[in-house]
Amino acid sequence: MPRAVVVGAGVVGSFHAYFALRRGYEVVHVERELTARGASVRNFGLVWVSGRRVGEELEFALRSRALWEEVADDVPGFGFRANGSLTVARDDAEARVLEEVATRGDAGERGVSLLDASEARDVNPAVRGDLVAALHCANDAAVEPRLVPDALRAALTREPGYRFLPGRHVVEVGDAFAADHTGERHEGDLVLVCPGAATSGFAGWRPADAPLRRVRLQMLETEPFGARVTTSLADGDSLRYYPAFDVPALADLPPPAPVVAERKMQLLLQQRLDGRLTIGDTHDYDEPFPVDVDDEPYRHLLGRAEAILGTPLPPVRRRWAGVYSQSITDGLFHCEQVGTASFVVTGAGGRGMTLAPAIAERVVESTGAFTK
Ligand SMILES: Cc1cc2nc3c(=O)[nH]c(=O)nc-3n(C[C@H](O)[C@H](O)[C@H](O)COP(=O)(O)OP(=O)(O)OC[C@H]3O[C@@H](n4cnc5c(N)ncnc54)[C@H](O)[C@@H]3O)c2cc1C
Repeated sequence: MPRAVVVGAGVVGSFHAYFALRRGYEVVHVERELTARGASVRNFGLVWVSGRRVGEELEFALRSRALWEEVADDVPGFGFRANGSLTVARDDAEARVLEEVATRGDAGERGVSLLDASEARDVNPAVRGDLVAALHCANDAAVEPRLVPDALRAALTREPGYRFLPGRHVVEVGDAFAADHTGERHEGDLVLVCPGAATSGFAGWRPADAPLRRVRLQMLETEPFGARVTTSLADGDSLRYYPAFDVPALADLPPPAPVVAERKMQLLLQQRLDGRLTIGDTHDYDEPFPVDVDDEPYRHLLGRAEAILGTPLPPVRRRWAGVYSQSITDGLFHCEQVGTASFVVTGAGGRGMTLAPAIAERVVESTGAFTK
């Protein structure tokens, strides 16, 4: 039986382990922490189709969305739900952007339609604040990020061909091997390194030469909200952020609030299965990143969420920051060969949770040809 060594137990590495096992490899899965601690457990859990660029990116996201649903049938405990989303317009300028997106040729494939305020409240009765219109995306979905990597690994652990090695920091990757800090060398017919944003942690690859950057985001979570928020929510500031909204009417949007412009913000809101609200986000592109999380962006995000939900929010329970690795090319992610049968896979950026199953499926299929 061929052996695959997978490094990294975030969502990307865990899905690589899953698809490698399915494709007939014995899998050794190496992680420096005891369990996932990176971007995969710090995100919203949005499986976000609505914002993807028309063409290859949208098709890839739809493939990934289908895989999430398929794997969720196989692996209980993800909290996968096809809850859809509403992107909410607060004024006519934002509504015109949504209208152009809803009438573009890809609207059916994307699963989007334009709703007036009353139709939006029928879809999501928790949206009781001021809105002019909303874009409903039936294809958007959500999972529980704090559960996904462990749930996936728990399912893999029941398979005879899978072995998880936590607490092992890989310090070198070479031709068909990965060596960890204890001195153990993990030989594989295929080596797939999925380090997330920890790109400088091992020898055998020069991340400085790769077209990647790191991005830091601030997030918060409230205590349980008193009502069901039936869809994921985004505000009009997300129109500037996602490539799907690159339509002529975008040029007519008024300038964003100063804090939104400065911290590259948008409101995204996802209710967790226990009722809490995950709210974000900001984007910092310049390193070194701040040590602290700042209050001003949080005040803005909480104000926006209250304006859309039309009611005060429960107290904030916790705040955190996360960092992802992003490809700065037009590619959907970065996959680089670093040895005869060794590859580094990272750089999916702010869509890594959405795309992880499709990335892993594609990488395992395409790198199989290099198997030693
Ligand atoms: C705040 C935030 C919100 C986001 N929201 C969303 C969202 O809603 N939807 C979406 O699609 N995407 C979202 N993203 C992006 C998404 O979370 C990431 O793209 C994705 O989680 C990356 O997964 P990963 O497995 O590559 O990285 P990680 O989750 O960082 O996992 C990498 C793992 O590799 C391990 N590792 C690294 N180096 C080594 C080594 N040398 N040896 C052993 N182990 C090693 C690390 O310990 C880590 O466990 C968000 C990101 C952030 C930060």
